[in-house]
Amino acid sequence: MKEQELYLCAMQILDGQLVAGAVKEELTIRVAQLVAEGRKVPHLAAILVGNNGASETYIGSKVKTCQDIGFKSTLIRLPEDISEFKLLNSIHDLNRDPDVDGILVQLPLPKSISDENVINAIDPFKDVDGFHPSNAGRMLQGLPTFLPATPHGIMLLLEHYKIDTRGLHAVVIGRSNIVGRPMSILLSNNSNPGNCTVTICHSHTKNLDEICRSADIIVAALGRAEFVTGDMVKEGAIVIDVGITRVPDSTKKRGYVIRGDVQFSTVATKCSFITPVPGGVGPMTIAALMKNTYKACIDKN
Ligand code: NAP
Repeated sequence: MKEQELYLCAMQILDGQLVAGAVKEELTIRVAQLVAEGRKVPHLAAILVGNNGASETYIGSKVKTCQDIGFKSTLIRLPEDISEFKLLNSIHDLNRDPDVDGILVQLPLPKSISDENVINAIDPFKDVDGFHPSNAGRMLQGLPTFLPATPHGIMLLLEHYKIDTRGLHAVVIGRSNIVGRPMSILLSNNSNPGNCTVTICHSHTKNLDEICRSADIIVAALGRAEFVTGDMVKEGAIVIDVGITRVPDSTKKRGYVIRGDVQFSTVATKCSFITPVPGGVGPMTIAALMKNTYKACIDKN
């Protein structure tokens, strides 16, 4: 057997579809219990502004998952040219609605609307995406809160596969408020998974390749298709691919293929664990969102 084949054999896929399925199964049972006890079921309200194709897909999956596990869901579609004032009013209405437990506003928003104002307008107790500054602050201090769905989902995946991260060097590529920064906080928490020594990288990082080669864990969250290649990865590293990029492909009926931030073909032969795209972080993000929505409902009722 060639050396490369040996590595391929040793490599394990972190199957987000499978783990998300287990989370959803558990939530389905809990919702059935709520119904049996005559209690309120979790209700997620989602706002979609405009008709961006990728956002339509993501929001569609979230609504469908709610239906699958027995949550109530409401999808509010608003036109691309809606004013920030009107969008904020819709959020205030949902904040006041006692039946709504969780609110999410699908990002990105049109350029004329401030993400910050929108995120700040959501009631922190209904902020199931975990983006509100008060929830981000609670996360920073290790207090109970809604963890941002994508990093939360990644932590659930590491936990499921019993990956001991203590003392490992984790390199997070990307520093957005929704993925990279919270990911770096969770990985550096005094917990397991956690207790990593974390390096956070961005577009101004020098010697990125070298930093990646020193990583025991790489979380690629930069949104550049197949950016992380095999030569940037140490033998046996754990590689988490957050990226979702639509790459034009005229051979496909829909005209594009989905690519992650990691070049799977060259990286999979070297690492110990890897998340595929699709089927890795994406389903875990939705599973974590559902866990947050369940928590919002239970905390309130
Ligand atoms: P974002 O807000 O655009 O942030 C990208 C980050 O990557 C920025 O910090 C940027 O650095 C950094 N970056 C860009 N080019 C780089 C380079 N060449 N070298 C090093 N760093 C670089 O993106 P995001 O919202 O965090 O999302 C990242 C990716 O994850 C996207 O593909 C998105 O679609 C995907 N995503 C997936 C899920 C999921 O469920 N799977 C959820 C959320 C996001 P600067 O700060 O210096 O600009």
